[in-house]
Amino acid sequence: MTAAPDASAPAPAPAPAESIPHFRFFSLEVLRTRRLGRSFLRITFGGASLAEFRSGGYDQSLSLFLPPAGREHTVLPSTDEDTWFADWRGMPGEERPVMRSYTVREQRRTPAGVDEVDIDFVLHGSSSPASSWAGRAVTGRRIMAIGPAVAENKSVRFQPPAATDAVLLYADETALPAAAAILDRLPPGTPVRAWFEVPHEEDRLYLPTPAGADITWIVRDPGTGHERTDRVLDALRTAERPASEAPYAWIAGESATIRAVRRHFVQDCALDRRAVRFTGYWRLGATEEDLLAEAYAGRAPDETPTAAL
Ligand SMILES: Cc1cc2nc3c(=O)[nH]c(=O)nc-3n(C[C@H](O)[C@H](O)[C@H](O)COP(=O)(O)OP(=O)(O)OC[C@H]3O[C@@H](n4cnc5c(N)ncnc54)[C@H](O)[C@@H]3O)c2cc1C
Repeated sequence: MTAAPDASAPAPAPAPAESIPHFRFFSLEVLRTRRLGRSFLRITFGGASLAEFRSGGYDQSLSLFLPPAGREHTVLPSTDEDTWFADWRGMPGEERPVMRSYTVREQRRTPAGVDEVDIDFVLHGSSSPASSWAGRAVTGRRIMAIGPAVAENKSVRFQPPAATDAVLLYADETALPAAAAILDRLPPGTPVRAWFEVPHEEDRLYLPTPAGADITWIVRDPGTGHERTDRVLDALRTAERPASEAPYAWIAGESATIRAVRRHFVQDCALDRRAVRFTGYWRLGATEEDLLAEAYAGRAPDETPTAAL
């Protein structure tokens, strides 16, 4: 399957690829916010450094550094490639910016030449740092991010083999921005079967795509825990999938549900496990600090996570 070119991305700088680090720091300034649905807030960021930002599209992710409670802007002690992680971790807890993973919903250059990046935040409560920060974001607030400096980078996980003849997507609300960006870029007519799980009826978004997409919305209201995974599996089991020789599945969302959906595709549907890309975007009851601590248990204190962004 050949991916559609991204007409909105700026042309890459004319430098040899091996001399460019894949990720670097960017300073992002809130330009505007827009409510997309009951749970979704789009924040459009600008900033001079975005001239060097190179989203690879699809599910391109980045890491945001949000100001700690009581601060307006993010200030990092260092953006040096080799030392930032140790410097950031060494900051006193009350001063340390909060690191969180998000998706580049869209990157574009406006006709006026302004580089912009959209990030769609799920508002899931005011006691979690990222959700709370997004809910209070106003024009002019500045944060930092580690994001892509080259379009071909490891934080684009949607990588269908060339022979793929149909795409299966499962996303909960946190992965809907990524699934929407994937739908934006698929070649015209690609058969797609998608299941999108959202908290509320008012979160069903209009998702235009050149692909031939058949979308089932799973509205969770008011399910939680195991109940939510069962509801997703019921929807998957009762659905017809496109006739296909070489399907590719991309699954992202809450970790326990992701594992169950992957098992369904591999065991019940006999999909080749190498053609099932799955990513836990969050875990019920765990903050991103908890997940980072698990991922980095046993590693050197200054080992940077940029390769895993
Ligand atoms: C590669 C990647 C891309 C992602 N892209 C996006 C994106 O584009 N938009 C987006 O909104 N999220 C996205 N996420 C998920 C986001 O990083 C997590 O939801 C993150 O935990 C939010 O941080 P927080 O500070 O609000 O909550 P945390 O402090 O991390 O968590 C606090 C509590 O809230 C719970 N929680 C976390 N997220 C949710 C939720 N959505 N609903 C209900 N409870 C929750 C946790 O289990 C925990 O108990 C992405 C994650 C990854 C790994």
